[in-house]
Parts: sequence; C-alpha cells; structure tokens
Amino acid sequence: MNDCLFCKIIAGEIPSAKVYENEDVLAFRDINPQAPVHILVIPKTHIDGAGSITPENAASVAKCFVAISEIARQEKLSGGFRVISNCGEDAGQTVKHLHFHILAGVKMGEGML
Ligand code: AMP
Ligand code: ZN
Repeated sequence: MNDCLFCKIIAGEIPSAKVYENEDVLAFRDINPQAPVHILVIPKTHIDGAGSITPENAASVAKCFVAISEIARQEKLSGGFRVISNCGEDAGQTVKHLHFHILAGVKMGEGML
C-alpha cells in the first residue's frame, strides 16, 4: 500500500492544480505558495528524495529538469526562477517523494543561496 501523497496526486486520487504533464513528469501548483509562482515538479516514479537518486533512476531526474525548462517557457518566467529540492529533516522536507520547487514572480533575496 503506497501512502505517498504525491503518488496519490499522480494517480488522480487527490486533486491538484496541474500546470504540466508528460509520460514521466507531473507539475502542479503548490497548495501553500511561497512566491507569486510556486510550482512543484515531480517524477511519476517514486523516489524518496534527492538523497535517493541513483544511476538507475537518474533518467527520471533529468526528465524533471527538461520539464522545468519547458514549464519556465510555458509560464513565461523570463525574469528568472529558483529551483529548490529539500532533502531530509534539517532541510524541512515534508513530502517524501522527490520534488523540485520552482519559485518565481518576485525578486528573491540571497538568504540561504
Ligand atoms: P517540502 O516541504 O520541500 O517537502 O515541500 C512539500 C510541498 O508540498 C510544500 O510546499 C507544501 O505546501 C506542498 N503540498 C503539500 N500538499 C500539497 C497538495 N495536496 N497539493 C499541492 N502542494 C502540496
Ligand atoms: Zn510517491
């Protein structure tokens, strides 16, 4: 039994505000946006997080980044955007399915990055 929230979104068991989808990748708007544009990009195959990327599943990750580039054009993020992936407790990862946050639409500070 897969209890993963994002796997349930992929399966259509939980609704999402979809912005992009192909065979390997799904992207949808974050339910609690931290910027005017806040999109989550996830591989359709379950990977726990950035610390679980291996040579065997790395193609799924590459496909996420191709999607990120396409989403940036689709959403007209010509002013730029930030991509973040939290991994593990100290980073504040709350959903244990690899995801990339796309943040845009505001001038971002240099804070942590
Ligand atoms: P993280 O804290 O890096 O694990 O990111 C998880 C993100 O998922 C958070 O920004 C949440 O706001 C977001 N989130 C949680 N549940 C949903 C949902 N049902 N639909 C869209 N975004 C969600
Ligand atoms: Zn999952």
